Amino acid sequence: MPELPEVETIRRGLLKYLPGRKIAGIEIKCPKLLINCSAADLERSLSGQSYADLDRLGKILIIKCERHSLLVRLGMTGQLTFRDPELPDHNEFKIHPVTGLQRNESQYSPDKHTHIIIAHEDGTSLCYRDIRKFGRWYLYANGDLDASPELKSLGPDPFRCDYTLENLREALRRTSRAVKTALLDQSIICGLGNIYADEVLFAAKIQPLRPADSLSDEELERIYSAVKPILQSSIDNRGTTFSDYRDADGNKGENVSSLKVYGRGGKNCLHCGETLNKASVGGRTSTWCPKCQH
Ligand SMILES: [Zn+2]
Repeated sequence: MPELPEVETIRRGLLKYLPGRKIAGIEIKCPKLLINCSAADLERSLSGQSYADLDRLGKILIIKCERHSLLVRLGMTGQLTFRDPELPDHNEFKIHPVTGLQRNESQYSPDKHTHIIIAHEDGTSLCYRDIRKFGRWYLYANGDLDASPELKSLGPDPFRCDYTLENLREALRRTSRAVKTALLDQSIICGLGNIYADEVLFAAKIQPLRPADSLSDEELERIYSAVKPILQSSIDNRGTTFSDYRDADGNKGENVSSLKVYGRGGKNCLHCGETLNKASVGGRTSTWCPKCQH
């Protein structure tokens, strides 16, 4: 599932292509992806507008046009790629026979999982592909964007100035839930998902089941300090691809080999050699080192 580094990588990729391009029309093959508007509303509102900018808050991508903006949650398997008809397409996405996931790289022609196509006046397009269809799209007039429930409900984004030790400490002290569960709560800190919450707790040497309100000041500071470097290093590697995530050009991210614990349950801790634990915490699979994390 795309988390902050993956969404940021997509944002940066689309930033190369979208601003200034004009929307000619929109094809919606799966209207249930649109949460607060109809396909007709979306088409009527955006056609003729140019893209102005791309922003991001937590895991939400914000596609800003002249008068309206789209908020896009990629869900589990959402892929947002830019397509240029001047460039050759590779084969269609190949569906893996066991996992149902595709394994090609590079630019693709739309296929049966491509549910939204925003066509541009110059012939290029923005394609949204989503095998599991858990993605969510929202349309807002630009003036209503900041007050939208999707953005308003989010806690501090680690790359914005309201991400402070004081804010994080206050939010974590207010809950007795497991710290792993609290870090996944987007109203406490936005952008972390299962991968980076596990990585942050390993770097901070905190066991994921610890009640958040039991953490000492020093432990809270370790968590606070671990978040940004871990996310930044994944952004530098263009995100983590296990299966579906692709950047705006259709390429895989390269951060998997940098992960210390996530996806490594049963393997040896890279720090101490102990076998890594893997168990469900708050319904999410978590991996940690029983020796390094307390
Ligand atoms: Zn260890």
